[in-house]
Amino acid sequence: MTDPSNRRRRGLMLLISSPSGAGKTSLSRRLVADHAELDLSISATTRAPRPGEENGREYHFLDRAGFDAMIEAGEFLEWAHVHEHRYGTPRAPVMAALEAGHDVLFDIDWQGAAAISREAPGDVVRVFILPPSMAELSRRLHARAQDHEDVIQRRLGRAYDEIPHWRSYDYVIVNEDYDRAYADLAHIYHAERLRQARNPWVNGFVEGLLDEKLEPPR
Ligand code: GDP
Ligand code: ADP
Ligand code: 5GP
Repeated sequence: MTDPSNRRRRGLMLLISSPSGAGKTSLSRRLVADHAELDLSISATTRAPRPGEENGREYHFLDRAGFDAMIEAGEFLEWAHVHEHRYGTPRAPVMAALEAGHDVLFDIDWQGAAAISREAPGDVVRVFILPPSMAELSRRLHARAQDHEDVIQRRLGRAYDEIPHWRSYDYVIVNEDYDRAYADLAHIYHAERLRQARNPWVNGFVEGLLDEKLEPPR
């Protein structure tokens, strides 16, 4: 039998974007929790932590000088201005995860998704999450109750600029029913892992299959 350790896949980068409040954080954290071989890329940001957010868990919370030092040192795979703040993807943990044969999930805006896609077009899978309506998006942002009203209004305003980017994504999910949306996301991830080009180990496996001669029936 083929040793499963030889079945190393080429890791994929799952890029998830949506307007704020559409559900990408809850969907992506659940996907990562359910898959040991899928790592979450933890971004750096200059925005302040929300209640309950912990440095190093949701984000690496940096001041402007710390963020700029990382830019200078070339430590970001990409970074962008989002909602009046800077957000960036640290390069080293992504490279380490991919080298270890893991996949990496990125919860990043459309600018970051475009930048990473340009660098590694064959290794990215892009998913855009849409809210069922703008009214529901507003309701969820208010229900999350973690941002001030003026911040919520700015995020809702920005949603009108972000949603048109849905066309440059490979997949789109309307997050109306949460469990349904999660099942869709998991199906996309599972199918993408089976892509022929991501599974070079199959070459040797098929050679083994074809070398296996069956005894004629007696
Ligand atoms: P959310 O939209 O409610 O999840 O709010 P966040 O403050 O967590 O994220 C703000 C925006 O920054 C979102 O559009 C994220 O997708 C984006 N973002 C987060 N991390 C990164 C990153 O590393 N790079 C880029 N380019 N965008 C990021
Ligand atoms: P984002 O990361 O895109 O800003 P979140 O994952 O934080 O979005 O979701 C925003 C809020 O909406 C959260 O309070 C979350 O629990 C809630 N939410 C997410 N998906 C659904 C859904 N399908 N139905 C109702 N509420 C949802
Ligand atoms: P929030 O402040 O609500 O956590 O995130 C706001 C937005 O920033 C979200 O759309 C999120 O996807 C995006 N974002 C978070 N991290 C990054 C990042 O590292 N790079 C980019 N480009 N966007 C990010």
